[in-house]
Amino acid sequence: MVVADRRLWQRAAHIIHKNHRVIVMDSGSSAHFWYDVWTGNTPLKDYLPDDIWTTMFDKNCTIQQAFSDPMSNQLQMAFWHCPMNLFTKFLTTYNSQDTWIWCPTQDGHFSTKSVRSILTTEANQQWAILWAPYIPTKWSVLIWRIILNAVPIDGTVKEQGIPLVSKCYCCSNPHEETTLHLFFKSAIAVQIWTELAHLLHFSHADMTSIADNLTDFLASREPEAVAARLIRCTFMSILWEIWCSRNKARFQDQGMSAKHIINRSLFSVRAICTSYKFQKIPPDWIAALCQDSTVKDNLNARIPSAVRWFTPLSGRLKLNVDGAFKSTSGEAGGGGIVPDQNGNMLCAFAHAYHGLNSSLAAEALAMRDGISMCCRNGISKVMIETDSHNLVQIMTAQQACQWDLVCILQDITAKTQILQAEISHTPCEANRVADSLANFVLFCPSLVS
Ligand SMILES: [Zn+2]
Repeated sequence: MVVADRRLWQRAAHIIHKNHRVIVMDSGSSAHFWYDVWTGNTPLKDYLPDDIWTTMFDKNCTIQQAFSDPMSNQLQMAFWHCPMNLFTKFLTTYNSQDTWIWCPTQDGHFSTKSVRSILTTEANQQWAILWAPYIPTKWSVLIWRIILNAVPIDGTVKEQGIPLVSKCYCCSNPHEETTLHLFFKSAIAVQIWTELAHLLHFSHADMTSIADNLTDFLASREPEAVAARLIRCTFMSILWEIWCSRNKARFQDQGMSAKHIINRSLFSVRAICTSYKFQKIPPDWIAALCQDSTVKDNLNARIPSAVRWFTPLSGRLKLNVDGAFKSTSGEAGGGGIVPDQNGNMLCAFAHAYHGLNSSLAAEALAMRDGISMCCRNGISKVMIETDSHNLVQIMTAQQACQWDLVCILQDITAKTQILQAEISHTPCEANRVADSLANFVLFCPSLVS
């Protein structure tokens, strides 16, 4: 094997080791005890000091061999060097065989696309900022071409060795047309960027190198905040409209107008806000996007509707559950309550969860704990309500389940059948008590288990 091949395979092995996991059937599993990731996030061998690992006997032993060894040499070694919590909680499946999981995908199935995204270097990730479901593809493609200096503007064509005489259409006193001039330095561009400076916080005067300044500006904000989305959309929309307007000026002899470009851009952004249901739009943006009061009302539209908690049908009890998750700190909690026919509490819980990575996981754990509470209290024929639409869809097989939730959901399904329970969705307004219990955990984690 040549050196390059060996490197390739070493790299492949490293990626596979880092991203795979095994959900084991039980202690009879044939997964490798030291090499496979069956508990925690790395193989157990990573916890051993180098000198112990190199002299270790039987590195290839399986989980079954490790657990059935009468001398329990491997287990003793693991207990000595690895964190104990790895052995108290690991994913097991009800299946009669181990399940191999590819972590980067949601369903745990291997895909070459996921490998590609792992291999994508940091440098390429700057492009990600140009693409989003709410940004029209034609805008993204144009900005991509602007950054690559691949828009057929006079200056760019000349750089490719084609001699031509250039005169811009964007200034009353014409200049040579270059990308920087047309989009950022021309009379029209300066007028547009000046007028929108209070919204975009963008200074056209600082623009010296398109490739660097443009991506820096687009990437300078938290991409999912509403204000950042609006800035990104409007900025890209303006560039698109300048380009369209320039083409109409050159090929159809229509004059360029800064006011017209701004109006068309804001119109497009307003349509995006409505179609993609942007929430909590800042007041200065509402003022800019809304030319008349009807549009303003539409953007602000929060039609009030009465939502209340309904008592369950007679002979049944209701369990309301909710999960809470803070992505910034990773803290999570779940709460649930079973009220009687009059709405008085029969039993309730609030639990803290650790090591979660999504609110859906917190919702699922809260449901599991709520059902367990019903089992302990001898409550059956219960109606379970959650405000997680995704969880209900997964439980009713309308949506695929994430691999890391499989075990929790199997548990819920089994207990639901025992309890003859039904699961349904309720608006958050009717799930306030469970919501408060779950959030209580985030504020006072030391008070709950
Ligand atoms: Zn010009």
